[in-house]
Amino acid sequence: MKFYLDTAEIFVPDNLPVEEALTRTTHLCIAAHQDDIEIIAAGPILECFQRDDKWFTGVVVTDGRGSPRNGMYEKYSDEAMRLVRFKEQRKAAVVGEYAAQIMLDYPSKVVKDGSSTFPVEDIVALLKETRPQVVFTHNLADKHETHVAVVLRVVTAIRSLPENERPQRLYGCEVWRDLDWMVDSDKTTFDLSQRENLQAALLGVYDSQISGGKRYDLASLARRRANATYFASHDVDDAVGLSYAMDLTALIADPELDIQNYVQDFIDRFAQDVEALITRVL
Ligand SMILES: [Zn+2]
Repeated sequence: MKFYLDTAEIFVPDNLPVEEALTRTTHLCIAAHQDDIEIIAAGPILECFQRDDKWFTGVVVTDGRGSPRNGMYEKYSDEAMRLVRFKEQRKAAVVGEYAAQIMLDYPSKVVKDGSSTFPVEDIVALLKETRPQVVFTHNLADKHETHVAVVLRVVTAIRSLPENERPQRLYGCEVWRDLDWMVDSDKTTFDLSQRENLQAALLGVYDSQISGGKRYDLASLARRRANATYFASHDVDDAVGLSYAMDLTALIADPELDIQNYVQDFIDRFAQDVEALITRVL
């Protein structure tokens, strides 16, 4: 597999030849930064763990150079930080037994530039090679610019594929801004009650991000617990961990569907829900 940047890499934890490793993929996650995958895609990672018939592949689009740094990492150059973040992402791929981990190595500003076609071309090439059934990425209401840029590139890439080569489903998951605000009927839920140990391990390898005081590991596990506790549906009463996703499948099934309007509809249903409740009790 060739990508636009020759510094892009494909890491295969079990050392299978690259083509064989990639073609076994069933669940593909395309995220902005090293550590986003383990925050947004715990559901599919657990679903594929220790399975011969389901395989999870992770893709990180950016290079990690602009990462915040503190403590022992404070004096690290951008390149040293990039190497640390690549190393951490590879560790997570080993812990989660991913089919493969790809780093596309783009500077954030390239990903955020809508006129730059290279990230989309790389994602198209990956989709063709991996032919996933389900794709996971960021959601359209995330508050991080690079995250929203990535989901837009993913939608563009999938839309460019012939209809019969597109994945069956596309989910936008939560990092910077959770999805609790969506009305319950709009929420796609992933039950994360099992293997909290593995979830903690996947998040815990990101020492360079966590040791600066940002406890993404504790915050992500706590969000899953809070989602489960505050979600009022009877079929998941027993869940002690839940993550939410915005179902973006309609956007890839119909390439003409307007992306802004699509996310606005979720926001409108939330607004109507708030308004209707207040009206009922006023
Ligand atoms: Zn991120």
